Amino acid sequence: MSNITENLDEVEKKIQAACDRAKRPRESVTLIAVSKTKPVSDIREAMSHGATVFGENKVQELRDKTSQITEDVHWHMIGHLQNNKVKYLPGMVDMIHSVDNLKLAQEIEKQAAKHDIVMDILCEVNMAGEDTKFGLAPSECIPFIESIKDFEHLRIRGLMTIAPYTEDPESNRQYFRGLKELLNKANEMKLTKEPMDTLSMGMTGDYEVAIEEGATFVRVGTGIFGERNYAI
Ligand SMILES: *Cc1c(COP(=O)(O)O)cnc(C)c1O
Repeated sequence: MSNITENLDEVEKKIQAACDRAKRPRESVTLIAVSKTKPVSDIREAMSHGATVFGENKVQELRDKTSQITEDVHWHMIGHLQNNKVKYLPGMVDMIHSVDNLKLAQEIEKQAAKHDIVMDILCEVNMAGEDTKFGLAPSECIPFIESIKDFEHLRIRGLMTIAPYTEDPESNRQYFRGLKELLNKANEMKLTKEPMDTLSMGMTGDYEVAIEEGATFVRVGTGIFGERNYAI
């Protein structure tokens, strides 16, 4: 078996075990295979072993890969997004995970309207307040949702966070729990037409803890495809 196949088996086992611990059904968690920097051949290998949802963080790379992979798989935009690139996304991705400012939300609204679609989005929250990361401060999250909740071509499905890089996944539990609390609070306030149902949290180092805390999407790259080489 190749590494990708073995890795997918391993990740699947760990997702199942975390779901069992949390007494959650396996279907309540979707694995996003984060294929950024990896070749189409790797994606095809993951597809042949059952992966159906892929995450990318650059629009150009998404365009290249979706032009080569025309099978019925799902793509999610998980990375920081510039306004001038939004126009490529309607019809290409199922969801944008990284919405953190009004201008960007306005541009997505405009482009989605042009294509006559409703785009699913998540609001990105910088739970640990790291300077190096994008995202709303936790205190800005609810006011931000209030400011975009009436956009007709956006469906705010929930929240996303990128937790700090750490060797100790337990140290990120507080951030995952906090994101879930924010989602619950916003839902209690009935900010959105439909209650938000999505928490995108947990990466290779900490997805099991994230599932225990309620993640509905986990975004796993290295754990499936191996280390990334940004130099090539
Ligand atoms: C790269 C990336 C991931 C995957 O990270 P790994 O640690 O390799 O699993 C998840 N989410 C986002 C937003 C990313 O950019």
